[in-house]
Amino acid sequence: MSEEGCLLVMVVDLHPQLAEHDAFTYLNAVVAFANLHLAANVRNSLAVLAANHLESRFLYPSSIGNKVERQKDGRLEMLGQVDRAIERGVKAMTEAAGSSAVHPEQSESLLSGAMGRGLLYIKRREAEEVLTKKIQSRLLVLKVSSDTGSQYLTYINAYLTSQKILTPVDVCVVGGECGLLQQGADITGGTYYCVRQVTELLQTLLLMYHCGTATRRKMNAPPADTVDYRAACFCHRTLVDMASVCSNCLSVYCKAVPLCTTCNVIFQTDRPLVRTGKKKK
Ligand SMILES: [Zn+2]
Ligand SMILES: [Zn+2]
Repeated sequence: MSEEGCLLVMVVDLHPQLAEHDAFTYLNAVVAFANLHLAANVRNSLAVLAANHLESRFLYPSSIGNKVERQKDGRLEMLGQVDRAIERGVKAMTEAAGSSAVHPEQSESLLSGAMGRGLLYIKRREAEEVLTKKIQSRLLVLKVSSDTGSQYLTYINAYLTSQKILTPVDVCVVGGECGLLQQGADITGGTYYCVRQVTELLQTLLLMYHCGTATRRKMNAPPADTVDYRAACFCHRTLVDMASVCSNCLSVYCKAVPLCTTCNVIFQTDRPLVRTGKKKK
């Protein structure tokens, strides 16, 4: 861990599919990890964003209810504020989702948008820090929902931005593997791990995601899996092995199409399919 402290931006998935897991254990792990990060170094700072299938929202620092309450139980006041801000935000988002008519099964969490907002927050903080040239920052994405790849391009844009501003994207997935987020961790130099049970989440966060990327290289971490580098087709948003690629704008289609829907170029439909990507060791 660096002496200068680190800005951790947590992006937390609050998709209604969380109900399939133990939501209480999941949110407890989020709050405990946020507290640990702030308590570990006095210069550490934190931002927490949440996303569900309807919106993404800043939970901490929050724009509402910033009044400082006196400490009651001997804990640091800041830790109490984090707890309350996360609790308030989660409650508000759950209420808003409960009254919405959008069916959660048909839409995935807006995690890529929340990641974009997190990156903007990092840039803003960098501009505010006049004494240091570059603040150490990283993004931690927690995902519970199954993905459909409908935000493929937004994810890739977020990864390339993170890579450019040297911000690693750490990903911890609960339940099933997520190829799209694994690509992001691999591109930006972050860590990807999939926990099967939500009860393993806090332990995994503490062991694998608490220390910075420099320290992680010295740790005996589990070997990285092979990264699934297939691209998602632009027509159905599913990951494909073989695809037809537009020669003008490089849009990927799982079948040969007469017209590119991205750039409106008309092409012959008898072209052979090309392989989109290899599995990288
Ligand atoms: Zn398709
Ligand atoms: Zn095209």
